[in-house]
Amino acid sequence: MSAKALVKRALKPLLISVAGRFGPHRRAASEPRLWILMYHRILPESDPRYHQEEPGMRVTPESFEMHLRELKRHFELVSLGDWVKAQESGAVLPRQACAVTFDDGWRDNFEYALPLLKKHQVPATLFAVAEKIGTDFQFWPNVVAALMLSGAGPTLAKHPVLGVAGMVAVKPTPEQVAACIKQLKAYTDLELFQALEELKWRELLSEPMKPALMDWPQLREMQASGLVEIGSHTCTHQRLNRALPESELEREIVESRSRLERELEHPINLFCFPNGDYSAEALSLVKRYYKAAVTTQKGINDAADCSLHEMVRIGIHNDITSTPQRFNARLSGWV
Ligand SMILES: [Zn+2]
Repeated sequence: MSAKALVKRALKPLLISVAGRFGPHRRAASEPRLWILMYHRILPESDPRYHQEEPGMRVTPESFEMHLRELKRHFELVSLGDWVKAQESGAVLPRQACAVTFDDGWRDNFEYALPLLKKHQVPATLFAVAEKIGTDFQFWPNVVAALMLSGAGPTLAKHPVLGVAGMVAVKPTPEQVAACIKQLKAYTDLELFQALEELKWRELLSEPMKPALMDWPQLREMQASGLVEIGSHTCTHQRLNRALPESELEREIVESRSRLERELEHPINLFCFPNGDYSAEALSLVKRYYKAAVTTQKGINDAADCSLHEMVRIGIHNDITSTPQRFNARLSGWV
């Protein structure tokens, strides 16, 4: 380890403590600001799905509940849709507002997050992958993790696309699984899905995977709670940064909205860019069809100077937010 890395490591606890205690979330600014938190999965460690997931994607229900309590101490918790409406109409906004968001529509959000949102009466926005709701769709990183953890790594390793160093272990560590998934991100989603189909991945698993996403009745129940607003996260979760044919771009952005509106019988006003990627064309189409959109860009939104279709968020995952001190440090936006 270099001297610089050593110093950085030694100073980290101090930085976390200072950021948590003196970060911007601990003092009201002169202008109203909005923190938007980005969650993906809420899973207890006892759930097998927890171990098939990348650390950057998961939060335990215990941590999530602690987060809600901490948030209530520092913020006015708002629904993103309400905040946007108020910002547009020039209404008075809270000085320190925070909106909770969930990406994708994971079934565990229904199982573990909804009861906690209800218990603490916290509003949230959930961005659903419209055409994958209620299907047996799996995201490729979870399939790769499930295959590796069930001992199929050596079979994957022989495949020209899927085979990356580290897969040969029959009993891989979580770090090895994460490293393989990271390497595979060099390929497009389409290439990886095709490769998995070639391998007939379902037949390689000892146990079938549970559905990844909610079904329509579950999504409707989230909405009916009165706490959760549903937004669009495209039809199929394609990244919108590349030169997608215009028809495809239109389908992902416009069709997803109509599908959700039809199924949920409710207007859909908010959008979330998959992986935070978008082209100028994608952005202009989103501006035409939605009131606001969120990215994965890290930051805190200033009400006075906020581009409503490129709103920034703070990603939350368990490994960096499992104690109140670390969660507070994350809210500072500094770490
Ligand atoms: Zn997503």
